[in-house]
Amino acid sequence: MLDSGLISFTFDDFFESAASSGAGILENYGKRGTFYISSSLLGNTLPGFSENIASAYTIETLHSRGHEIGFHTKNHVDLSKSSRLTIMKEMIQGNTIKKITGIKSTNFSYPYGRSYSRLDTFAKLLGYTTTRGVKTGLNNRSDRFSLCSIPIYGHSLDEKSIADLICKTVSDNMWLIFYTHDVINSHSRFGCNELQFNSVVKQAMSSKARILTIQEVVNLSKLPSNQ
Ligand SMILES: [Zn+2]
Repeated sequence: MLDSGLISFTFDDFFESAASSGAGILENYGKRGTFYISSSLLGNTLPGFSENIASAYTIETLHSRGHEIGFHTKNHVDLSKSSRLTIMKEMIQGNTIKKITGIKSTNFSYPYGRSYSRLDTFAKLLGYTTTRGVKTGLNNRSDRFSLCSIPIYGHSLDEKSIADLICKTVSDNMWLIFYTHDVINSHSRFGCNELQFNSVVKQAMSSKARILTIQEVVNLSKLPSNQ
């Protein structure tokens, strides 16, 4: 099948509302998302957020429903300010996620979105297939490291801009990656409410783009070129 662009929905930090509302909305359309989590923060929270990060049970449930669990460092550290030793310690995944899902995460997002080619070098060494930051833009389908992304933030959501981005994704056969955090009425300034998230998914669904997890996009390149 020939594609007309790819769209991925991703969630950083993996708050409980991303699992309940974000995943639920995607599933209403028969789609799945990628949820990046810091492995030492399960069930905890982060400054500026009013709810907890997903528990092991939530992670297991979402994984079993076909969503992807990505990695986001062990302790949610800004790697751009870290020593080489800290970078390695934070990016080496350990077994926390594997014990829950049965597989290691192969896709990584940078806390605070700060990605540099130096960090991508570590990511490649450690076997990650992709890394994602928060630099705004569209990706080529073959891009894999320091992937650009577009926020779904309630305070700045502009449906016309999103419609234009989806249009360009389809016309130029690009890869558009959305990201957000909590999906709840009382969302942080890094999240949105259910109506806003649903409106973006609905716009994506009404386009000719395919909606895939990050790993599903990676898998496409392993298929014969006419797939
Ligand atoms: Zn984060």
